[in-house]
Amino acid sequence: MMLLTRKMIEIRNILQTIGQSGTLTLPSIVVIGSQSSGKSSVLEAIVGHEFLPKGSNMVTRRPIELTLVNTPNAQAEYGEFPALGLGKMTDFSQVQRTLTDLNLAVPEKDCVTDDPIQLTIYSPNVPDLSLIDLPGYIQVAGRDQPPELKQKIADLCDKYIQPPNVILAISAADVDLANSTALRASRRVDPRGERTIGVITKMDLVSPERGHDVLSDKKYPLRLGYVGVVTRIPQTTALFSRGSGNITSAILKNEHAYFSAHQNEFGPRSDVSVGVSTLRKTLMQVLEQTMSSSLSGTRDAITQELEEATYEFKVQYNDRPLSAESHLAESLDGFKHSFKAFAESFGRPQVREMLKAELDQRVMDILAQRYWNKPVEDLDPPMLELDPLKDLPKADPESLYWHRKLDASTSSLTKLGIGRLATTVVANALHNHVESLLASSTFASHPGAHKQITDACTSILNDKFFSTSDQVENCIKPYKFEIEIEDPEWAKGRDNVGKVLKEELRSCELAMKHVEDVVGKRKLKDVISFIDRVRKGEVVLEGNGEGGAGGFSAALLERGWYLPLSSLADTDVYYLGREGLFLRDRADLIKMRLLAVRSKQCATQKNKYYCPEVFLDVVADKLTSTAVLFLNVELLSEFYYNFPRELDSRLGRHLSDIEVERFAREDPRIRRHLDIIRKKELLELALQKIEGIRQLDGRARKPERAP
Ligand code: GDP
Repeated sequence: MMLLTRKMIEIRNILQTIGQSGTLTLPSIVVIGSQSSGKSSVLEAIVGHEFLPKGSNMVTRRPIELTLVNTPNAQAEYGEFPALGLGKMTDFSQVQRTLTDLNLAVPEKDCVTDDPIQLTIYSPNVPDLSLIDLPGYIQVAGRDQPPELKQKIADLCDKYIQPPNVILAISAADVDLANSTALRASRRVDPRGERTIGVITKMDLVSPERGHDVLSDKKYPLRLGYVGVVTRIPQTTALFSRGSGNITSAILKNEHAYFSAHQNEFGPRSDVSVGVSTLRKTLMQVLEQTMSSSLSGTRDAITQELEEATYEFKVQYNDRPLSAESHLAESLDGFKHSFKAFAESFGRPQVREMLKAELDQRVMDILAQRYWNKPVEDLDPPMLELDPLKDLPKADPESLYWHRKLDASTSSLTKLGIGRLATTVVANALHNHVESLLASSTFASHPGAHKQITDACTSILNDKFFSTSDQVENCIKPYKFEIEIEDPEWAKGRDNVGKVLKEELRSCELAMKHVEDVVGKRKLKDVISFIDRVRKGEVVLEGNGEGGAGGFSAALLERGWYLPLSSLADTDVYYLGREGLFLRDRADLIKMRLLAVRSKQCATQKNKYYCPEVFLDVVADKLTSTAVLFLNVELLSEFYYNFPRELDSRLGRHLSDIEVERFAREDPRIRRHLDIIRKKELLELALQKIEGIRQLDGRARKPERAP
């Protein structure tokens, strides 16, 4: 039973999936021959189908690693390109087209490449064999072929005909054997003719006597002998069988007719071997023997590879087991764990603080807009009827002007769109937190999973956004109409807004410092005092008055009559000067308001019209408390509940093996780790199989050795 080749092919497939280096290749039969020597015809006769590319131009540009798998109980015959994933091809003309395309994909200028095409053919009519078809030798390069082609083909063939491969050297009977390129090549690497099978094709083209002489050649004797064949496909069969029917029997019939017509030369009593069937048997036996004798060499090579893999696994990965599933599960657990810790640290108090800080800013804006802003743009005296800075502290408590001003300011605050604002602030915070958790998690190096998690987060937040925002807006509605304040609330507001103003003052001063750094302290002072003087009317500007600042023009600055300007453009200095002026005024103003807020006058809410800062702070605080109540229920709790579940559904158990594998392999470190484990496992499997074969082989041989 020819079991060995089959099992060895199995082992080879295992080794191929780990992308094994050359050391582990198992022996194959390498088919070489000149163009038109009948090489394709021989291979097709063995397979029983026309499947090789044909054409006047050289079409085989890549080696074809052809594996034949005998499937005794199956009906169907089909080919498969394992590396391409095109599935089973029962139509052999499709196999032929695919091979042609793969060959033509090699650029004309490269002519040939040693990147092999793998093709497996399954059939009940083929023996288990592993063959490699190579481009045919050429004598001279064709007109549209590069001159170095001849050498390139020869080099490629030389690479493959090395031991332990068996060489199938094809020569045509009608060409003098001394001129056979295939035999000459094989002789160079196998001078004693120990691993070469000579195939003489086109036996029908020479006289039977001459044919007989060729087969009993003594000049280059081969231990495995010569086999004569007639493999021309009978025309009628070729026409009808394209792509489907098996052509073996037609070829055999044709061949048989020829050889049996010349019994003397080729009959059973002659001293030569002929026929495709004989050739098949020889191939099987020879390959089986070669495989058998390469067993221990292959085992040693596998053992060595395995030792290296084991060592690498130990040194680099400390023998730490890992699988794609466990990696994903651990990553997910780790991430969920860190999310849980975050959820515990980011609750109502934190949301409240964040939201209040946001509203504090809005309060500052409203105050600036309604009370504090000096119209800097406008160089004429301020247009305000009343100046809050001067007039507010001594205002008439019954003055409707101040009442309206405070009402309008309060209304600006309550009608700000608190629902939307608050929801946005919290949703953004959650989103940013998830992002930063991701950045420090295993998922940082898994773009696919990273995206899944970001998407999960966004989708929940988007889902909840409008309902939360509406809810919050609804709940703060009463404040749009009436606001009642308790004394303690006032005291707290006064305290808080003091801090906010101080902070505001600090950032004003920082900004001022920044402008000073850019312009230069002295220069800035000069520019500011100049602009100030223009504003107060102490300087009358000449010139065309362009620039929109009441006649203050960049042109004037350009004339440089007041400043030595160097690095900064004049207009920049001008605008920075205005900015400086604004900041200086604002800082002065905040200092004053800070004093006011701290003064006795603002100690109680009786004087709320004098102290809009405190009042607005209290309102902002009320709005915050109410908003937080609902944000907590509608957004925060919902998010904390749904997010881990959404993660499970996106990255949890129901992912397919392929998806899990793809995920794990996104991280190059994990990929290497998984690869080494897989390599180790497959080498162990290959070794186990090869030991099994050795035992079988040993048992099969024993009776032979027995006396
Ligand atoms: P390759 O270029 O070496 O693959 O050669 P092919 O297999 O394509 O054969 C070249 C030519 O020789 C084709 O026209 C075949 O039909 C023809 N041919 C192949 N084998 C035989 C044979 O045994 N007898 C005859 N008469 N022609 C053959």
